[in-house]
Amino acid sequence: MSAQIDVTWLTNTTDMSDHALTDAEFARGRRDEHGEYRALCGQVLLPCSMLVPPGPPCPRCSALVCGAAPSPAGDRR
Ligand SMILES: [Zn+2]
Repeated sequence: MSAQIDVTWLTNTTDMSDHALTDAEFARGRRDEHGEYRALCGQVLLPCSMLVPPGPPCPRCSALVCGAAPSPAGDRR
């Protein structure tokens, strides 16, 4: 069984990169109503409008998400 986390990618207004948020952090940010969320990489982000096209993915968030969900090795046919 592989470890997997569910994340949402949001574009940050300060660096225009997409960062990954856990579902729990997304819920916390909405509950606190400050409009700020802490991404997996530690960056505090202010999300862009959903009308803004996605930015480049944050390399650190990407690495953390990929590390949490490794592809199954040895299951290739
Ligand atoms: Zn990030």
